[in-house]
Amino acid sequence: MIILIDNGHGIETICNGSPDGRLKEYKYAREIAAEVVKRLKTMDYNAQQLVTEEKDISLGTRCKRVNDICKHFGKTNVLVVSIHCNAAGSDGKWRDARGWQACVSLNASARSKQLASYLFDSAQAQGLKMRSPKPGQKWWPQNLAICRDTDCAAVLTESGFMDNKQDVEFLLSDKGREAIINLHVEGIIDYIKSVSK
Ligand SMILES: [Zn+2]
Repeated sequence: MIILIDNGHGIETICNGSPDGRLKEYKYAREIAAEVVKRLKTMDYNAQQLVTEEKDISLGTRCKRVNDICKHFGKTNVLVVSIHCNAAGSDGKWRDARGWQACVSLNASARSKQLASYLFDSAQAQGLKMRSPKPGQKWWPQNLAICRDTDCAAVLTESGFMDNKQDVEFLLSDKGREAIINLHVEGIIDYIKSVSK
């Protein structure tokens, strides 16, 4: 399995962040993505970052990179997880919405939903506050290019709200970073084990 970790945004998306400026989405997601890849590689998994550039790479280019790898290795041998932080508003104010969620495209494959479910279970096991569109559903259907326009199992994770004070405190803490890294590593490994049975 080829594991592609996408870090969401580049440095040009600098406006996405917490109202107090302590958390920048592009930076946070990049740090998490790099560490997830590093740990998976240590365990001999074939993991790589989809975007190694600092600058913003368009969604079209990101999807093309994924699909080129799918063409070469077969789409069932590839997965992509795009790491983001959520926001309830865009006016620079603190909000109440909190929690972790896994998103798939509106036309998601069974594999994408399966990957989202393993990530969800793994996040729950880390003790995170979870968000579901309805009770018992572990994936959140959304119209997201990185999930919609890629051929393999594809999930976008929203790791907490960057405009919620409690979430930001948690995300920036050592414990929080570790939980976010671990849930991605463990959820991906659980998915790979389930499909290679
Ligand atoms: Zn984002």
